[in-house]
Amino acid sequence: QMNLVADIEEIIREQNVEMLHLQFVDIEGILKHVSVTTEQLDSVLNGKIMFDGSSINGFSPIHKSDLYLQPDLNSFAVLPWSVEKDYAEARFLCSVKNPDGTDFEGDPRNVLKKTVTKAYEQGYSINIGPELEFFLFKTDETGRPTQQTQDFAGYFEPSPHDNGEKVRLEIYRALKKMGFTIEASHHEVARGQHEINFKYADALSAADLATTYKWVVKTVAKKFGLHATFMPKPIANENGNGMHTNISLFDIEKKQNAFYDADDERELSETSYQFIAGLLENVPNFVAVTNPLVNSYKRLVPGYEAPCYIAWSAANRSALIRIPAMRGGATRVEIRCPDPSANPYLAFATIASAGLDGVEKEMTAPEELVEDIFSMTDEELFLKEIDHLPTSLEEAVTEFEEGVIGRNTLGEHVFNEYVDVKRSELDSFRTTVHGWELENYHTKF
Ligand code: GLN
Ligand code: MG
Ligand code: MG
Ligand code: MG
Repeated sequence: QMNLVADIEEIIREQNVEMLHLQFVDIEGILKHVSVTTEQLDSVLNGKIMFDGSSINGFSPIHKSDLYLQPDLNSFAVLPWSVEKDYAEARFLCSVKNPDGTDFEGDPRNVLKKTVTKAYEQGYSINIGPELEFFLFKTDETGRPTQQTQDFAGYFEPSPHDNGEKVRLEIYRALKKMGFTIEASHHEVARGQHEINFKYADALSAADLATTYKWVVKTVAKKFGLHATFMPKPIANENGNGMHTNISLFDIEKKQNAFYDADDERELSETSYQFIAGLLENVPNFVAVTNPLVNSYKRLVPGYEAPCYIAWSAANRSALIRIPAMRGGATRVEIRCPDPSANPYLAFATIASAGLDGVEKEMTAPEELVEDIFSMTDEELFLKEIDHLPTSLEEAVTEFEEGVIGRNTLGEHVFNEYVDVKRSELDSFRTTVHGWELENYHTKF
C-alpha cells in the first residue's frame, strides 16, 4: 500500500495531474464521479470525500444520504485524453462506505466483493473475461446520435469497408495506457458493430475493467464525432450487442484451474460440470440482471448468434453455454446471454454465485446438446426438455423476484431497489405509445 501511494504521488507530480475523479457505479452500472483537485489527495486516500447518496439511482433514502468514497489504489489511472490538454486528470474507482466506515450495502462493487469473499471461503478465486460488443453511430450537427451506422462492413472485414479501424486503434491505445492488456480487435457481424477484447482478470478487476472499457469507448468515439452504444439491440434484424462472459474457478489450495481434468472425455472436471449445472438451473432467475432492459429481449431471438434456449454445448454457438476449445489453465465456461447494458458488478456476482450454487449442491449437468438448437422443432425441444430463456423483461423480473439467487447474491438492499427500478421501467414502457403502434394502428383503425 505504502509503495502504491508513493507511486501515485510520483505520477501526479511528473504528469502534472490537477484533477482527481472519484468514480463508482449506480445500481444500473452507470458510471458516476465527483472531482477534486490533487491538493486533496490526502483526504481522498483516507476516504474522507463525501457525497449525497440519495441522488444516486438505487442508493439510499434521503435521511441516510451521507456516503463516503474509498478509492481502490490499484485502479488509479491518468486519463489518456486529458494529457493533450494543458492539464492532466486521473481517476480512482471507489468503494462506497457508510459514515461509520462499514461497507455500504447498496454499492454494486461491494456486492461483488461479498461474492468473491464467499467463493474464497469455498476454496476458489473467480476469473472472468467479458467480451463487450458495441455499435458506432454517426451524430448530427448538434452532436446527437443518429440511426446511421458509421460503416456497412461485416464480420472481420478490413478497411476501406470498415472505417472504424482508426477509432478502434485510438480506443485500443487509450485502454492500453489505462492498464488494459488488449488481446484482439475486430469488426463484428452487424454494420457499425465492433469488439475489442481484453485479458481476463479476477472477478472484481474484470468488472472494473468492463466499466472503464464502456467509458473509454464512448469517450474516444465522441472525439471522432461518433456515438458508441452498448444498447443490446440498436437495430432490428441485425445482430445485437452481447457481453459473452468467460468464467473459471481457480482452486486456491491446489493452485490450479478447477475446471480442467485431463482424464475426462472432454477434459472437464466434475466441478466444471457442477458449475454448468448451477448456471443452467439458476439462469431464469438471474437474466433480469444479465439482460436488464426491455430492449435486451429483442436480442435474445433466434438467428443472431444470441441464445434463446437453456442448454450447454462444447462447441455449438447456438447454446446458452459453450465451452471454448482451450484446456489446461485456460479451461473456462462461456455464458452467452449477458449483454453489455448489464451492471458488470451485479452480473458477475450473480453468474458466479449461480455456478457456485451448483458446485455447493453437487448438481448434475444435463446432457450436452450437439445439434443446432435453431434448427430443432418445438417437439424436439420439448422431448429433450429444453426450456426457453425468459422472453421479456416482465417475465425475467417476475422470475428474479421468485428465485433465491438474486436476493442471496445482491442482498436485501440492492435486491429490493433493483426490483423497484425495473418495475418502474416496465410501467413507463407499458404506458408509452410507441412508434410501432402508430405505424400499425393509426391509419388502419
Ligand atoms: N453479437 C452476438 C450476440 O448478440 C455475438 C456474436 C459473436 O461474438 N459471435 O451475442
Ligand atoms: Mg468475442
Ligand atoms: Mg463477438
Ligand atoms: Mg465469445
